[in-house]
Amino acid sequence: MELSAEQKAALEEQKKNCVFCRIVAGEIQSKKVFEDDLVLAILDINPARKGHMLVLPKEHYPIMPLIPQKAFEHLFLRVKDLTYCANRGLLSQGTTVFIANGGAAGQQSQHFLLHIIPRDKDDGLSKLDPAQNDIPPDEIERLSRPIANNLPLLIQNHYQRTGQKYPGKLRMPKERLIGIIEANPPLLDTVLKQPDEFKKLVPNHPQLRDLFAGQDIEAILAEVFLRHGRMYPPKKSMPAVAPHEPIEAEFEETKKAKEKSEDGMQKDDEHEDDEGDVFAALGGIAKDDDEAQEKETKEAPEDVEENADEEREKEEEVDLDDIARLFK
Ligand SMILES: [Zn+2]
Repeated sequence: MELSAEQKAALEEQKKNCVFCRIVAGEIQSKKVFEDDLVLAILDINPARKGHMLVLPKEHYPIMPLIPQKAFEHLFLRVKDLTYCANRGLLSQGTTVFIANGGAAGQQSQHFLLHIIPRDKDDGLSKLDPAQNDIPPDEIERLSRPIANNLPLLIQNHYQRTGQKYPGKLRMPKERLIGIIEANPPLLDTVLKQPDEFKKLVPNHPQLRDLFAGQDIEAILAEVFLRHGRMYPPKKSMPAVAPHEPIEAEFEETKKAKEKSEDGMQKDDEHEDDEGDVFAALGGIAKDDDEAQEKETKEAPEDVEENADEEREKEEEVDLDDIARLFK
């Protein structure tokens, strides 16, 4: 989070009056129980239980999102250590780790800190369960989708805006990926007309690779096709195939695709808009019929390769102009 000049000035003013900064500086007495160069833990003067600790970064940060990544990692690793030691040293059965982040959540200090409270069964303290609110299940259901769809993208954008790399693999919801494809006509066009090329593009394109990491691309493409009233994997235009004879039908289709691609190689340019023919040329060589593949590769590899290269070039344009824009 970047601060404006005014916010920085206000922060400096806040530090001057901060009790916890003065505790860190040793100007106010405290019961220090743990200290390193970045973190201080003291006993709370109004403890909920024996061993109730306040853990704070030595630097003054008003709220959690302002703590830099490294400092945050260090702080929370110490919280883990202190929680473990509280359980061992104080023979408590558990701990409540409590953070009030922001005034609305009950944060009283202007210096970010958190509480570690040793707990025992039947210790008389509440379990700090927020009382259940009366939100109907369908409302929760309705909210879950936009939250799940937008949260990963917001996090990704936050990291990109601050020039950092997300330290892991963000998993985008399937709905969100479909939305990204749907919102980009050139990308959608590529997916619908050249799904095999699109699948080849994904692992080689940094942004697409991150977006689709760990995703079932087949399921996503199938859903996109379904929404556009098409079959996936795409079939050449033929009478509908009865579901109980897929293997035979596919064999027939492979044969026909092969025949068509053998005599149709030269006609590809005339048929650019005809999906079936594009697939015959591009997809035909990727069929599972090894002999057909070998034969075709021997007989007419150049036309196919050239055509595929052209398509790839087209897709490169799509990446730069349309996909990159999504991440601005
Ligand atoms: Zn402070």
